[in-house]
Amino acid sequence: MGVALYPADGMSVDDLLRAATTALHRAKAAGRGRYQFYLPEMGEAARGRLEGMNALRRAVRAGELTVFFQPVVSAVDGRVVAVEALARWSDPILGDVPPDTFIPLAEMGGFVHDIDLSVRQQALDWLARWRRAGLDIRLHLNASEQSVRRPGFAERLLVEARARDIPPDRLVIEVTESVFVGVDDGAPDSLAAIGGAGFGLAIDDYGTGYASLNYVRRLPFTMIKLAREFATGASRSERDREIVRSTIALGRHLGMVVVVEGVEDQAERSLLGMLDADLLQGFLIARPMPGDEVEAWCRAYGGLTTEERG
Ligand code: C2E
Ligand code: MG
Ligand code: MG
Repeated sequence: MGVALYPADGMSVDDLLRAATTALHRAKAAGRGRYQFYLPEMGEAARGRLEGMNALRRAVRAGELTVFFQPVVSAVDGRVVAVEALARWSDPILGDVPPDTFIPLAEMGGFVHDIDLSVRQQALDWLARWRRAGLDIRLHLNASEQSVRRPGFAERLLVEARARDIPPDRLVIEVTESVFVGVDDGAPDSLAAIGGAGFGLAIDDYGTGYASLNYVRRLPFTMIKLAREFATGASRSERDREIVRSTIALGRHLGMVVVVEGVEDQAERSLLGMLDADLLQGFLIARPMPGDEVEAWCRAYGGLTTEERG
């Protein structure tokens, strides 16, 4: 709910509605079941956002979003096990806009599903190509709450995978903890359908949102991706180190694979707590890269060097 007050936020019905809508977008961005009063500083920000949103909507319609891939490797034997598809948008005026900026815009505008769909189709085409070339890796796809909540999400994904000869267990759907908010209206059902169809299901950015152990317990998650804040923090704080260590243990006891994300340097990598993780992802291993570089990278990657292993 967005709230605007007369006369402070506007003298006409039009102005009040505009202010209330601006506040509403802010409330929605903060999660489900929120309300927000209009604040004057939202006006300027809202105009900028609207321009960005229109440019983005146009780019999505024109099929201009591209996809990069970041490898996920085994911490145990150095194999490349997967790549994560990441959306990329380059606007002629705004330049390269990071997904942390444009995904929330698309969520506010209600068209993030179109982005997820476009990324998914490009990424599935790439995966099919790599498979034909003999590269058997998994593909991780990020899915926004709005995408996952659409009825038939898992069924459509099955059709798309089948059309390309991709078995469901080669795909992992990553959802953030925001899908747990307002759980009584459908998210867990659609998550259960994803698991039931045989896809992998990962909690992304674990530890930064609302995931309660209750969902970890009830839902068919196959993977926990520990938020990169913890990889960073672990080299500095004993508490963070302990969180990494115990999350890995928790995942393992529940039969889930644990990915430590955002591993940037060797200090982080070589921390004992992380040596025990199953999978690693981060700039130390590779930055996201265009699809036409993935195959060569995977073939060339020989695991972490002894030095990098710490
Ligand atoms: P994410 O799914 O957690 O993806 C990992 C992000 O961390 C990526 O940022 C990646 O480039 C970045 N990263 C990887 N390793 C490191 C590292 O060592 N250090 C640092 N500092 N960062 C690292 P990116 O590509 O900017 O994406 C940001 C977020 O945007 C993603 O976080 C994901 O939540 C969202 N996103 C990206 N593509 C899509 C998409 O197609 N659909 C949806 N719904 N969300 C997407
Ligand atoms: Mg992700
Ligand atoms: Mg993540």
